[in-house]
Amino acid sequence: MTLAEYDSFAADRHRMMRETARAFAEREIRPIAAELDESERFPCELYAKLAKLGMFGITIPEDMGGAGADIGSFARVMEELSRGYASVADQCGLVELVATLLAEHGTPAQRSRYLGPLLKGERRCAYAITEAQAGSDVSSVQTRAVETPQGWRLSGGKLWIHNAPVADFAVVLARTAPELGKRGFSIFLVESDQKGYRIGRKEHKMGQRASPVGALHFDDVILTGDARLGPLNRGFHLMMGVLDKGRVGIAALAVGILQAALDTSIAHAKERRQFGAPIASFQAVQWMLADMAKDTHAARLMTHAAAASMDRGESASMEASMAKCFASDAAVAHTANAVQIHGGIGYIRGIEAERLYRDAKITQIYEGTNQIQRLIIARKLLS
Ligand SMILES: Cc1cc2nc3c(=O)[nH]c(=O)nc-3n(C[C@H](O)[C@H](O)[C@H](O)COP(=O)(O)OP(=O)(O)OC[C@H]3O[C@@H](n4cnc5c(N)ncnc54)[C@H](O)[C@@H]3O)c2cc1C
Repeated sequence: MTLAEYDSFAADRHRMMRETARAFAEREIRPIAAELDESERFPCELYAKLAKLGMFGITIPEDMGGAGADIGSFARVMEELSRGYASVADQCGLVELVATLLAEHGTPAQRSRYLGPLLKGERRCAYAITEAQAGSDVSSVQTRAVETPQGWRLSGGKLWIHNAPVADFAVVLARTAPELGKRGFSIFLVESDQKGYRIGRKEHKMGQRASPVGALHFDDVILTGDARLGPLNRGFHLMMGVLDKGRVGIAALAVGILQAALDTSIAHAKERRQFGAPIASFQAVQWMLADMAKDTHAARLMTHAAAASMDRGESASMEASMAKCFASDAAVAHTANAVQIHGGIGYIRGIEAERLYRDAKITQIYEGTNQIQRLIIARKLLS
């Protein structure tokens, strides 16, 4: 295939994946977004449908059960699902992270036990790094895995783990050689029904309330057989390594929130009349809409550019960090303006602009805070 043929094939695929995700989001997600936000319930029915539609494992090879598409396709799907409701896109992003680790580093037995069922929507995963004393500073993780004659003994606890209350298994970062610093961590696959695996408190969150988040505790869980994922003591780098793809996903999710904010703001501005005219006729409102549209466009282009670099096999950590940082900052700023354009009703529960404002905030915090993204960008600039 020539480069031009590949570009045209990729463009067709991007369009097709976007249209499929958009139709699904319009038909199945958006109508129940407010109810999911209010009830904080895990959207089981959507989870199964997402898997059936091929929205799990978008970049995973087809022979491993994925869609065999590129990161550009993943970004478009994340944006469209998030335009429906960010908590649903979150599931697609989380599965992609865990599936990438399993596809790239799993043994055949681990792939058949975890990857296949995960992509079919039969099992749910969690990606567990954060602890009470280890947030931005991942190298402070204290969870330990010690080799014993019975197997690895895992002890410690994780905080604010996405899907902790509902996951069937967790991918857990633990110290295996404390004296080696960042080179002394390994990854373990831990099943929720193992003795000593305890699900902690489910948190009540400001936004993205249908993505359950909570604590996990490991009280001397004995891990036998094929429980270690990837090489010994390479866990830190492997888990950090997939975060570039994750950050493109979060950037795209933020673009979806921005687009939804723009859509609802335009509709409201045209409909709401004050002083005998639609508020859309006032220049102050037009400028808020124009700035929202301009930053949505820029965030989308940055996200697609980072994805395209990664699809060409280039190192794109800086681009992924720039896209995540820009898109999430824009999402927080412009969802605030979406509330402003709505006036008082924008502050009322059940109104989309109010939910989008709350849903946007976490995109500046998870998968590395925006301060950490700026550190990554600055480090690259000054290297
Ligand atoms: C809803 C939600 C879902 C999450 N999902 C997961 C998950 O699935 N798996 C998982 O492992 N974790 C998850 N997390 C945890 C998340 O990744 C962390 O909250 C995040 O990395 C920040 O860590 P922290 O909260 O400890 O903040 P801290 O690291 O304590 O940071 C506090 C503030 O200090 C700033 N700061 C810290 N260090 C520096 C520095 N060197 N330079 C400049 N500023 C700095 C930060 O940017 C931030 O503003 C989730 C969190 C939430 C709230």
